[in-house]
Amino acid sequence: MMDRLPELIDPVVFAERRTELVGKLELGTFTRLAEFMTEAVGKVDVQLSFDKQGRDALIDGSVQTELMLQCQNCLEPVAVPLNVVIKLGIVTVLEQADRLPEGYEPLLASGEKMSLREIVEDELLLALPAFPKHDFQCVDLTKHSSGLIENSAAEDPSKPNNPFAVLAKFN
Ligand SMILES: [Zn+2]
Repeated sequence: MMDRLPELIDPVVFAERRTELVGKLELGTFTRLAEFMTEAVGKVDVQLSFDKQGRDALIDGSVQTELMLQCQNCLEPVAVPLNVVIKLGIVTVLEQADRLPEGYEPLLASGEKMSLREIVEDELLLALPAFPKHDFQCVDLTKHSSGLIENSAAEDPSKPNNPFAVLAKFN
């Protein structure tokens, strides 16, 4: 077992060696995730087991963290815990995805080493809630109608465009 996470991994070699990776990555190092976070503090707990099942190289594990996102009701930061179950099957062409064991998503590997950070970041981006919000009534509906609040936020030029619109491309 490795106690430090490598920057680059060869998932096929790791599967043949039945490597286990356990460690943490700093949230501040995730550049694509950064645009969704109100502050990039904290760590991501990574636990990945690489294994061979027949001809398939598989990755099982979990990625856990807590992200500070922008509440889409009140626009204040909200802590959103994420616990992503990882079930990936290494493929070299997407057509191979059909023969992966049930429940495994294809991870396209070019035969070169892959960035572990990018793999973890992809999983976190896919797990982001489309509409992060506080789990309590954070907007006083007796003072404003929700429609007015949404409009004022959208029209305020000091506010950036809704960053969650970027999520559309992951669907
Ligand atoms: Zn809120």
